[in-house]
Amino acid sequence: MQLTILPLVFALALLEVLTPTRGEDFGYDGVIGPRHWSERYRECAGKHQSPININVLRVKQVTLPDIMFIGFDDSIDGVHVSNNGHTVLIEVENELHPRVRGGPLEADYVFSQMHFHWGDNDTFGSEDKINHRSFPMELHMVFFKEEYKSVKEAILHPDGLTVLAFFYEVDRHQHPAYDEIVGALQNVTEPHTQVEMEHPFSFLNILPYDLRRYFTYRGSLTTPPCSEVVIWLDFEQPIRLAHEQIKAFRELKSTHGKITHNFRPIQPIGDRVVFYNIDSNYFTYNEIDPDEDEDAAPTKSSRRRGHNRGFSLTPRLFFVSLMLAMLQL
Ligand SMILES: [Zn+2]
Repeated sequence: MQLTILPLVFALALLEVLTPTRGEDFGYDGVIGPRHWSERYRECAGKHQSPININVLRVKQVTLPDIMFIGFDDSIDGVHVSNNGHTVLIEVENELHPRVRGGPLEADYVFSQMHFHWGDNDTFGSEDKINHRSFPMELHMVFFKEEYKSVKEAILHPDGLTVLAFFYEVDRHQHPAYDEIVGALQNVTEPHTQVEMEHPFSFLNILPYDLRRYFTYRGSLTTPPCSEVVIWLDFEQPIRLAHEQIKAFRELKSTHGKITHNFRPIQPIGDRVVFYNIDSNYFTYNEIDPDEDEDAAPTKSSRRRGHNRGFSLTPRLFFVSLMLAMLQL
C-alpha cells in the first residue's frame, strides 16, 4: 500500500513545484479554469458532479416531508462578510447556527457558510440551470451533517453536506433585505478582506417566499476539490434583486483582478435522477390573493412563508405536472 502511495505523493509534490499558478488554487479562466481543475483535483472529473442542467420534463415528482428551517427567522449578531478571492462569503460567528432537517434529509444539517456565484452580465451567472435557462446569480447556503461536526469531516462522507441553492432574477425594485450585504461589498473588494455586519441578520429575510417547491439531486461541490458529497436542494422561486444590487458583486477582486464571473459550467447528469418536490396541498396553496399587488417591492411585512405570489414558472410547471400525471396512467 505504502509503495503505491509514495509515487503519487511524489507526483503531487512535483506538480506543486511545476505548476505555473502556485499560490492560486483555482479560478474560472485560462490555466486555472474549470477545464483544468481535474488535473489537481481528481474528483472534479467524477461522474456525479455539479452543477447540472435540470430538464423539468425529466424530473421525478415527489412529495417529501416538510423541510424544517430552524433558526432562519432569528436575528443573528456577529455575521461576517468576506472576500475569499473566489466569492463573497457570509459566516456566522456565534455557536448557535441555523439548521435544516426534513425534505430529502435524513438528519440535522448545521449551517456553515453561504456564498454567491455570478456572471459578467445579467443573462448568466447561476451554476445549475433550469431547462437550460441561466439566472444572473445564485446563492448557496452550505450545511454539514451534524454528526460529522465540521465541513472538513463531512466532505469525507457521501451524505456529508446539503446546499440550499436559490436563483436570482432582476427586478425593478431594490430588495431591502440585501441593502446591508450589498453595502458591505464595497468594503471587501480586495481579496481576503472581511467586515462585520452592523445590524442583526435574518436568513429568512433574504430568501424567496415559497420554500416548498424545489428540485433535489445528489451532486458535488462546484469548486475544487469537487467532492461528491452534496445533497442539492434548488428552490424554484427566484429571489428578485435590482440590477444595481447584482452588479455590485462583479466589483469584487481576486488576486488576478475583478471577479467578473465565478460559476462552473454544467456537468453531465449521467445516471442521476432529479426529484421535484411539490407539497400535497399544491392546488389550494397555489391560489393567488386577488388583493396582492404584484408590483410591490418585497418587504418584511408582506412576507408569508410558503405562500406563492403568482411566480412566473408556475403555469409551465403545472402543465408539466399534468403531463407527467397523464404519462403515469
Ligand atoms: Zn457555491
